Amino acid sequence: MLRILHIVEGTSVDGPGMRTSIYMAGCNHRCPGCHNPQSWDFKGGEERTLDELMAVIAYNEAPVTLSGGDPLQQPDGTRALIHRIKQELGYNVWCFTGYTWEEIMEDPALMAVVRELDVLVDGPFMQAERDTTLRFRGSRNQRLIDVQSTLSTGTITLWT
Ligand code: SF4
Repeated sequence: MLRILHIVEGTSVDGPGMRTSIYMAGCNHRCPGCHNPQSWDFKGGEERTLDELMAVIAYNEAPVTLSGGDPLQQPDGTRALIHRIKQELGYNVWCFTGYTWEEIMEDPALMAVVRELDVLVDGPFMQAERDTTLRFRGSRNQRLIDVQSTLSTGTITLWT
């Protein structure tokens, strides 16, 4: 079960190509200047089962982006959803988080969530680093991390 704010079917703003974007409720990073503070409430939105989410994703036959809120703050459900998308559909999956890669590496529970991702967009939004020309992110400190290359080489590899 996951707490979901909304689902956008067919968007090109959260990653390459037309994607299914799932916005999850809840975030406690509280970045000053956050463009979506209404997403911070962990009781926002509504509960959806993994089967319901998988049905929407499969219907759209498109890659998936998980955003929020912070999907990593619903770690069990997000980990299970990513696993099912990869195992049952094989779709490309991106995920946005307010945690840095370095913070995730130190937390086995968070590592378990990101392990099967294609791309992780990491780090908090920072007003001092804000740049409206960046693709798929709001501030320069945030990175588009190629998760599989990074895990196999042990060195942070950026998606291009
Ligand atoms: S991590 Fe994202 S949703 Fe959470 S406060 Fe920062 S910008 Fe807002």
